[in-house]
Amino acid sequence: MTTTWRWGRDGKQRLYVVGDDQVQLGYVDLVTGRPADVRLDRAEEFYTAVAAWRHATGRERQYTAEELGGLVCVHCGADYRQDPGRERARVPTFAPGTLQPAASGQLVACVGECAARQSGSPHGMGRL
Ligand SMILES: [Zn+2]
Repeated sequence: MTTTWRWGRDGKQRLYVVGDDQVQLGYVDLVTGRPADVRLDRAEEFYTAVAAWRHATGRERQYTAEELGGLVCVHCGADYRQDPGRERARVPTFAPGTLQPAASGQLVACVGECAARQSGSPHGMGRL
């Protein structure tokens, strides 16, 4: 079982994730939303813990049908139907109110800042 704890100082806000063996698995910069220092061999534990924390603290939200359909950027709301040439990437999707991957759709974000904020990588889980 992982534990999470918040740390803040000088305008920085971080959520640290620690494994049950006391190994630090990484942290999320809560100001930028970016994960950092994530142990790649334990990324699944890290992201599961972060998702659980987001869920427990009410940070998960209901996604719209357009977001779940990949028609708009889940981060900035850009409408890809208006701008079909815009590069986009798949980002992690959780079914609303659960920690399970959503079967109903695939969230998409613009390659770059939007994808990085949603998944930790500027290219998300892969380009579309
Ligand atoms: Zn975007």
